[in-house]
Amino acid sequence: MVGVTWGQMKKRLLPALCVYCGDEAKVLDHLLPRCRGGMDHEGNLVPSCRKCNNGRGGKHRRTLAEWDPVRVAYARRHSAKVRAEWQRLMKVEYAEA
Ligand SMILES: [Zn+2]
Repeated sequence: MVGVTWGQMKKRLLPALCVYCGDEAKVLDHLLPRCRGGMDHEGNLVPSCRKCNNGRGGKHRRTLAEWDPVRVAYARRHSAKVRAEWQRLMKVEYAEA
């Protein structure tokens, strides 16, 4: 995307706290997973700790709505990006599922 590397995005978004639990974030999480069409774009990435990132990606790439409701509720309170992605997901209503 427009010549911005993953390393540059990490520098922009980290250090920060994990949007899902408030721990120290070490990685970037895709709000919309890449395999669902999510992009390596700053607007689709949020700071995440490894535990939360692995939790979302572990079994199969889950959207926010398919994942841990407690963590998602926390993230919606703490991240405007997560709120926006959540609202977008609710509009889509799994049209493709
Ligand atoms: Zn976390």
